[in-house]
Amino acid sequence: MVVVEVPKYEVLEKVELKPRETALIIIDMQNDFAHPNGKLFVPTAKDTIPVIRKLLEKARKSGVTVIYTMDTHMKDDPEFSIWGEHTVEGTWGWEIVDELKPEENDIIIRKMRYDGFFGTPLDHILRIRNIKNLIITGTVANICVLHTAGTAALLGYKIVVPIDAISALNEFDMYASLRQISFLYRGILTRSDGIVFLE
Ligand code: ZN
Repeated sequence: MVVVEVPKYEVLEKVELKPRETALIIIDMQNDFAHPNGKLFVPTAKDTIPVIRKLLEKARKSGVTVIYTMDTHMKDDPEFSIWGEHTVEGTWGWEIVDELKPEENDIIIRKMRYDGFFGTPLDHILRIRNIKNLIITGTVANICVLHTAGTAALLGYKIVVPIDAISALNEFDMYASLRQISFLYRGILTRSDGIVFLE
């Protein structure tokens, strides 16, 4: 085993965001990833469900745009050679977990690859709403969360990641993601309770 040290990163106590310029993005909290009977269950994703739920309630109350991504595959997607079959459109595993079910005005982005922007209208939707800040939550930290956060940062959005609202399959993946988000993408790390919506 190789032991590596995680470089220091900062987790802010409090982050104030203007609700009208902010979107809460919930990445791939679908049964296949976040339910124990799912095909690619991430055990710690279960712990983030109540955290994301609370943040969702706070966001909805403040008029923050709520966006869900759904990993969406067709039969025989090339990604299945890495992960096995998962989130096939229309299956139970593809659906968002019951505790976080989207509401009528929420936006749902179906994505075929790790990155929520790749081949989707996400950037366009954010721009026409004049959104500048993205709070990124969900799973898996080093896969779809990191790829989406990376593109968001490269497109010029300010990214805020509550570390208690993302999950990974192991600690290495989690710390590597936090390092990339804070250092490489200049994202803001905080905890979900530290996010305040202020006009
Ligand atoms: Zn996938």
